[in-house]
Amino acid sequence: MSFLSNAKIIVTALNEYHQQSISRKKPVIDQIPIEKIINDLELSSFIRTGGLSEESLSQFISKYLDSTTRLHHPAYLAHQVSVPHYAGALAALIDGFTNNPMAIYEMGPGAASIEYHIVNWLLEKVGWQPAPLKNQKDSDQTFAGGVLTHGGSLANLTALIAARKRMVPNVWQEGNPSDLALLAPDECHYSIARAAGILGIGRHAIYRLDVDRKGVVVPDRLATAYQRVESEGKRPMALIANACSTSVGLYDPLQEMGEFCQEKNLWFHIDGAHGAAALLSKKHRKLMKGVRLADSLIWDAHKLMRTPVLCAAVLVRDYRTLDNAFEQEASYIFHDKDQPGIDFIHRTVECTKAGLGLKLFMVLAAIGEQGVAEYIDRQFQLTIEAYEYFQRLPDFECAVKPQSNILCFRVKGDDSLQLKLRDRLINQGDFYLSTAAINDKRYMRLVFMHPNTNMNDVERLVHKIKQLVNDMVTAQ
Ligand SMILES: *Cc1c(COP(=O)(O)O)cnc(C)c1O
Repeated sequence: MSFLSNAKIIVTALNEYHQQSISRKKPVIDQIPIEKIINDLELSSFIRTGGLSEESLSQFISKYLDSTTRLHHPAYLAHQVSVPHYAGALAALIDGFTNNPMAIYEMGPGAASIEYHIVNWLLEKVGWQPAPLKNQKDSDQTFAGGVLTHGGSLANLTALIAARKRMVPNVWQEGNPSDLALLAPDECHYSIARAAGILGIGRHAIYRLDVDRKGVVVPDRLATAYQRVESEGKRPMALIANACSTSVGLYDPLQEMGEFCQEKNLWFHIDGAHGAAALLSKKHRKLMKGVRLADSLIWDAHKLMRTPVLCAAVLVRDYRTLDNAFEQEASYIFHDKDQPGIDFIHRTVECTKAGLGLKLFMVLAAIGEQGVAEYIDRQFQLTIEAYEYFQRLPDFECAVKPQSNILCFRVKGDDSLQLKLRDRLINQGDFYLSTAAINDKRYMRLVFMHPNTNMNDVERLVHKIKQLVNDMVTAQ
């Protein structure tokens, strides 16, 4: 059967790819021009004639892999996307092959059961009691619930849809009232502004929370921001916290923000896309103190949990807020039925939805939750060590003391120097990092995602940067 022989070609090529990447034999990044890639991969001819199999597949996969950015390379330091554990990648293969769109139970009982179980596991890490399968309606207790989505951006949107629905119960019939607002720090991820746009309340309806020099919310100033919204005749439908922020990876004071929201009966949303995984670590869990006060929390498994893209969770303290968030009907799926499981389709924007839980589950099942926790501890520790190292170097400075696995630093010089250095590093392909603007200054940004990156890599990077700076000075 050609499936087996082709699969073997691909798996063998991936195995070699992994070895070349982890041993730093190939560049972490190679920005090949698009025309060349389209040409080299013979895209047009394969589309016309088909037949990508065996020998041609082998050639194709090899060329394709050379056109990837190698996340498995320890000098991959640029973005928050996970270096996936192979078990998660195998899960993606299983999911792709079986293709069970599990948002309705009958289209994927196994995947739906795993999603239900894994969501409950996440809820318990938050400290919430998951809704039991049956009899939750007769109980006085508040039970939590959730759903997996294709990414954190969609998860943020989903949570804010639930927040709006609680405040405006007839919103799906009448549309938005004109007085809706959001409270959020400037540092929040752009998907929040995008969600506000999609929700139709607009960016101007986002009122900023006061932050300190590091971009972290100042709890004493929450009341002032709230009053500003009220004095303009608006109603805040949610207050948003970062856990952690995207640019520098710092956590907002969740406990104080949560207490404030309780006092005002305001929906508290925590964007934990990157940093909620700290909940798994005994050492770093305290960064998430106050998380239980949230009405909603999002948490990406494809960031700090070694899971391949995409797998994000929307978690809510009261499962009913998510069950009520959407209310469209489709007679071919939404109808009374006796079934041995549960549907997720009423909780998401998506209709067809992949079995995302399998990827996270298989990673957990391979290394155990303890394995993920150890990984997080290691990466956070390495980041602090790198920070201390930069502190000792006279020509370098860091933006803030890191709390997670994100570190922003700059070389003495102006903003354009930082950008130039990054460009050169990427062009040479030995290191891949990003940049971020903090307090109107440009920094180079390291995100320590790879479980093999170590201080030698950081020292090599510094050495390389010094060399590049020297070359620039000599060239002038
Ligand atoms: C990455 C990130 C997002 C977006 O998540 P995607 O999965 O990339 O859509 C949202 N918020 C924060 C804080 C993030 O770090």
